Amino acid sequence: MIDYQNILDTIALSCSTSKEKGKIANYIPELAKVESSKFGIHLVDSAMNNFSAGDADEHFSIQSISKVLSLAHAMSLVGEEIWKRVDVEPSGDPFNHLSLLEFENGIPRNPLINAGAIVISDILVSNLENPKTDFLNYVHMLTNDSSIVYDLDVAKSEKETGFRNYAAANLLKSYGNLNNDVETVLDFYFHQCSLAMSCAQLTKAFYIFMNKGVCQQGKTHLTIQQEKRINALMLTCGFYDEAGEFAFEVGLPGKSGVGGGIVALLPGKYCVATWSPGLNPKGNSKLGMEALEKLTTATEQSIF
Ligand code: GLU
Repeated sequence: MIDYQNILDTIALSCSTSKEKGKIANYIPELAKVESSKFGIHLVDSAMNNFSAGDADEHFSIQSISKVLSLAHAMSLVGEEIWKRVDVEPSGDPFNHLSLLEFENGIPRNPLINAGAIVISDILVSNLENPKTDFLNYVHMLTNDSSIVYDLDVAKSEKETGFRNYAAANLLKSYGNLNNDVETVLDFYFHQCSLAMSCAQLTKAFYIFMNKGVCQQGKTHLTIQQEKRINALMLTCGFYDEAGEFAFEVGLPGKSGVGGGIVALLPGKYCVATWSPGLNPKGNSKLGMEALEKLTTATEQSIF
């Protein structure tokens, strides 16, 4: 039996005393207000035992981690139709890059880069009656936690500065790959990214991806094939242009966000989330990546 608590305590101690913490994202001004010294880690195993260390219950902006949840919701609503509008290849480019989108005629490389996630937002806007409320309810259902909310200050801050996302959405529209108007879709997208969650809440939400589509309450949300597809996308596209490095160092499917969160999972075994707001030059949490490398090294478990 692996002593997860002891491993997490050791990781949290070494991360919280680390001097090199990376750089907090400030292109969304509201994100820059977070304290750089924060570090949290939470792990839930398949039997729903919970282990945590540091600031694991503190809420932070999950940003791009939300793209996995919106994708899961869209897949359960419209199924394979999605792949007519979004590809499934790693981009090797930063999350907000636009040149490939033009080069490939408005079909985003994958649903986890911004352009792809904006198409997924468009699908949700078309298929949900009250998109923002319904998506929040979906997250409440996955986590069994109705205290989770959008951070409206973060959503507003991104709306005021999201010029590249406006460019991406307009480009998608010009190629006929956005059915709703740009404002409506981006309003949804900015809210989705602003979800404020803790490491502990994130592991509850992502439990379905390590448990064959079934949440902690025993309800099935995804088919086994859909869960396979989402984990494959996380592994190949979940870390901007550093997905190879994450697979190399950590060896788990996962997703990061510019708020400094990372969620990763070992199918059938555990789901883990880390939070440290300082990012490395590729936009992934510096200490979060180091913590997960230490976890898979100490446990001698990964998907490989
Ligand atoms: N809302 C952010 C953006 O679109 C998400 C970035 C991220 O976490 O990768 O710029």
